[in-house]
Amino acid sequence: MIINILFFFLLGIIAGSFLNCCLYRLAKKVPLWGRSFCPHCRKKIWNRDLIPLLSFLRLKGNCRFCKKPIGKPYFFIELVTGILFALVFIKYGAFSWFLVRDLFFISTLLLILIFDWRHYLILDKIIWPAFFISLIGNWVLGIVRRGNYRCRVFRRSISVVSSKMGGLG
Ligand SMILES: [Zn+2]
Repeated sequence: MIINILFFFLLGIIAGSFLNCCLYRLAKKVPLWGRSFCPHCRKKIWNRDLIPLLSFLRLKGNCRFCKKPIGKPYFFIELVTGILFALVFIKYGAFSWFLVRDLFFISTLLLILIFDWRHYLILDKIIWPAFFISLIGNWVLGIVRRGNYRCRVFRRSISVVSSKMGGLG
């Protein structure tokens, strides 16, 4: 259980790191793909400096090259996302597609919340994809849940029928 919680915490801080990247790039209107760079000197960040939380602590929150501060929010967004991911896992207690859906909801809501907080804007390019992914995701999960229920009912009726037949025989 502890290892699973740790796994979801780590997954959360990686997601938080991606959220930081999205928040910066959406604000600056630059493409979401491409290597991470320092917002001050624009030098590309080395792979070993991309480790969420740890790189921030090791470099004391400053850029390796220009030594300017990267900003504490980067660290806290990663930490909070990690904690929320771990809490969602604790709520479910095991892996399920509903857990994946909730992790997606949390990431999207954090993105909307922080972007709105910083820029007083809720972007259509976040809302619409999130809306359609949620709609399709919930529809598919509804089918999965109904499917599992039907399977269980079917299996139970088969076992009842076969036991009766066994009794008759
Ligand atoms: Zn720099």
